[in-house]
Amino acid sequence: MAVDDPRRAIPRTDALLADPELRAAATAADAGEIELGRAVRATLTRARAGELSAEQVRPAILAALGAGPRGLRPVLNATGVVIHTNLGRAPLADGVLAAMTAAGGYVDVELDLATGARAGRGRGALNALLAAVPAAQAALVVNNGAAALVLATTALAAGRAVVMSRGEMVEIGDGFRLHELIASTGAHVVEVGTTNRTTLADYAAVDPVGVGCLLKVHPSNFVVEGFVSAASIAELATLPSPLVVDIGSGLLAPDPSLPDEPDAATALSQGAGLVLCSGDKLLGGPQAGLLLGRADLIGRLRRHPLYRALRADKVTLAGVQAAVRQTDTSLVAHYRRRTADEVRALAERLLAALPGVEARLVVTSGRVGGGSAPGVPLPGWGIGLPERYAERLRLGEPAVLARLDDGMTVLDLRAVPADAIDELATAVRAAAQGD
Ligand SMILES: *Cc1c(COP(=O)(O)O)cnc(C)c1O
Repeated sequence: MAVDDPRRAIPRTDALLADPELRAAATAADAGEIELGRAVRATLTRARAGELSAEQVRPAILAALGAGPRGLRPVLNATGVVIHTNLGRAPLADGVLAAMTAAGGYVDVELDLATGARAGRGRGALNALLAAVPAAQAALVVNNGAAALVLATTALAAGRAVVMSRGEMVEIGDGFRLHELIASTGAHVVEVGTTNRTTLADYAAVDPVGVGCLLKVHPSNFVVEGFVSAASIAELATLPSPLVVDIGSGLLAPDPSLPDEPDAATALSQGAGLVLCSGDKLLGGPQAGLLLGRADLIGRLRRHPLYRALRADKVTLAGVQAAVRQTDTSLVAHYRRRTADEVRALAERLLAALPGVEARLVVTSGRVGGGSAPGVPLPGWGIGLPERYAERLRLGEPAVLARLDDGMTVLDLRAVPADAIDELATAVRAAAQGD
């Protein structure tokens, strides 16, 4: 490095890591040692590349740290996975967000304004669910799908058996296995059938006297093909024990674009006693667990003490109500239904905004994700970039999560908002500057 090289003035890593002002900014942004280190190194890389002057280094680190609290920073989802668990599953539509914001203050969540008397909690959300699923006599909203399952099996089967097929003993992600969750409630799981085939006779062979409920689980994140069969809801409904069906991803009514995905209305009309699902998968609402079905069964759940520990809060109830009423503005449905040509048009717009960048148009294969429609491919288009760009994009502002595909960074445009293409282009150009 020549004596007059401006890069000589660039501060050293250890000096920056010990800088009191930067450390205070990191604390204020809930960033830890590792994140401060990343911000410092990423900024120094840019400075050494001549992208930032020595004077710009500290402001750039402050900007990177000040972008918002760590752990809940906005991310552009360029993975092609619409319901991405690590990115918070369903993105919320404006109408849902507005309803949740409006519920932030005092609201009549348990009050009848007409009489001044106490009223059933979350009536608006429950009425919206019952209007959307007329086959349900009653409904209940809890914190998430797992809570709905725990509440149902505890209230109906604690100290007794929950009968389920060996083909439906699924792990829903991050090591959570449904049968272990059920066993933790004090019910004991009785496994019937085999991995690939379970018949009505397998369930019927268990003495109903000790059975709290039968449980049918939709294998929501994998597909088994070949010599497979399972007892249907209609068959299981002929047995004396209550039938609980975990449909997983939360379609309330059939959707022709997802022919293999179960829905609450159909499951109930086929004889399920209770149906449960998540609110933040295909429904496109906030994290919630929805329970729909027979009034007597829902009543047992609502009266169980555990309900008090699992019930949804007012903001969630407002979000569920809006998501159920405003399905036509669901962002999950919008991204999922984008045609390959629509995604391609977005990819072409992005490419046009990247002159001089080593980028090309590529075919992509997206997914619904989040334990929904596992066998359904979502063909789309994206931009292929050098592999080394992925990390820079992730660490950039805004943060961009891409997919790595065979040594290439791929930006799949399926779940990127149309009005975020310029922002995305800026992020890619910034990443390209690192070369
Ligand atoms: C996602 C899922 C759950 C868990 O729901 P959460 O809302 O994540 O708690 C349970 N069962 C099935 C079949 C699922 O797909």
